[in-house]
Amino acid sequence: MSSEWKEETLDPENWDELRELGHRMLDDMMDYHRSIRDRPVWRSFETAFSSLKEGPPRMPQGAEKTYQEFKDIILESFSGLALHPRFWGWVTGTASPSGMLAEMLTGGLNASTEFGTEFTYYVERQVLTWIKEMLGYPSEASGILVSGATMANLIGITVARNNKCDYDVRKHGLKFTPRKMTLYCSSETHMAIQKSVELLGLGAESLRFIPVTKEFKIDIQALKESIDEDESKGHQPFCIIGNAGTVNTGSFDDLDALAGICEDHSLWFHVDGAFGAWTAITPKLRRLSKGMERADSLALDLHKWMNLPYDIGCVLVRDEKAHRGAFTLTPEYLELPEGLPPPLQEYGIELSRRFRALKAWMSIKEHGTEKHGRIIQQNVDQTRYLEKLVNETPELELLAPVPLNIVCFRYKLEGLDDEKLNGFNNLLLMVLQSNGIAIPSNTTIDGKFAIRFCNVNHRTKYEDLEYFVKEVVRIGRMLQDPETQKKYEKQVTEKISALMKF
Ligand SMILES: *Cc1c(COP(=O)(O)O)cnc(C)c1O
Repeated sequence: MSSEWKEETLDPENWDELRELGHRMLDDMMDYHRSIRDRPVWRSFETAFSSLKEGPPRMPQGAEKTYQEFKDIILESFSGLALHPRFWGWVTGTASPSGMLAEMLTGGLNASTEFGTEFTYYVERQVLTWIKEMLGYPSEASGILVSGATMANLIGITVARNNKCDYDVRKHGLKFTPRKMTLYCSSETHMAIQKSVELLGLGAESLRFIPVTKEFKIDIQALKESIDEDESKGHQPFCIIGNAGTVNTGSFDDLDALAGICEDHSLWFHVDGAFGAWTAITPKLRRLSKGMERADSLALDLHKWMNLPYDIGCVLVRDEKAHRGAFTLTPEYLELPEGLPPPLQEYGIELSRRFRALKAWMSIKEHGTEKHGRIIQQNVDQTRYLEKLVNETPELELLAPVPLNIVCFRYKLEGLDDEKLNGFNNLLLMVLQSNGIAIPSNTTIDGKFAIRFCNVNHRTKYEDLEYFVKEVVRIGRMLQDPETQKKYEKQVTEKISALMKF
């Protein structure tokens, strides 16, 4: 060994110093969570862009200085967003302080959870068993934890395609298909489904978007007609995707009816229950998802209504053999001793993967299933209250029924047509968001721009909803003055164009 060659490691030179820094990080993050309510839910951060433009440093700057930069640059520019009690955009879970601690432990173990030779493998199995039990899904089903419902839907629809194709699609690919394979879902279905269909080479046009009823549920009669029409044309209908909680309005398709149609036509029944599936753990809401237990595959998230930190989703597949049949591939470098349970890569796409199960395991133990259910019920009760406030406020108009945790509404002005109202409400929403008051998101309901409130937030209080409505009304009144409207249009445009400067 040459004496001038010094061995190196990424371990600290001084463990006590790093430990002390770690304690400070923890204190800072606890304070951050604890005081989140006192901060605006969003603020401008373009002044920090310049500090992101440096190249990677060649020489070490040390842990202490790096953490200081995290605080000065990242924490200072980050608004808390989904951690905040008035964040109600998209379907964005709040997570919990103990979830953050579980993430630290996960990183600490650095366990790529993959083989039955690791204990973490069995923890994931236990978490999957718990999820099946909590949701009333068959216990013999297989499953895997994934990054989110997008990945879970992709896996479910892959298994559906491979199983329903009447030749070996893994071997031959889709170009040899004698018949066009078609799928069915409501027009309210999340884009993750179309993305999966495209990635699987089925082509977006093979996905039939069926119209919805006034309750935003798939129109069963129209669905049957569409299937019949495809069959009469010589196509091969193979899968129906049902919604347990749509992203626009939180509606549930009639899952029992869909399961029945799938049985009659021998179709695969996939359910996207990203957030809505969890209503099954809440006694008063359980009836909504009736029929979900009949699904051949079920996609869901735990980083939404189970309040775990990003990222964690799950897919369950009723027939384990069908599930593994879509993914098993064993090169010699992954061969295992006889008798071990199958590696988790046989249930999905990824090989190396994080020990996602830990935070779920800890959170379910810490809070218990009933409390998780009560939080969901609380969010739904709060949403009903907001619906009531909207209905009682003459200037506001509900744009869709409120079956669960989502309210779509707008500010109404006599004499303005939909197009003008769309512009007005768009501006109103941007003023609300960019001034850090509250973050609902937006959608379009029957051509009408809607302010969309979606509550999967365990920090929200009733008083936040009262404040929210008060502020919407205040801004709506204020923007009716043409001068003020111009001023805010300019403000919003400037804030957005500042982001383009990166
Ligand atoms: C969020 C969501 C998805 C996508 O899930 P990700 O976790 O964001 O990948 C799919 N479907 C529905 C209904 C959703 O709410």
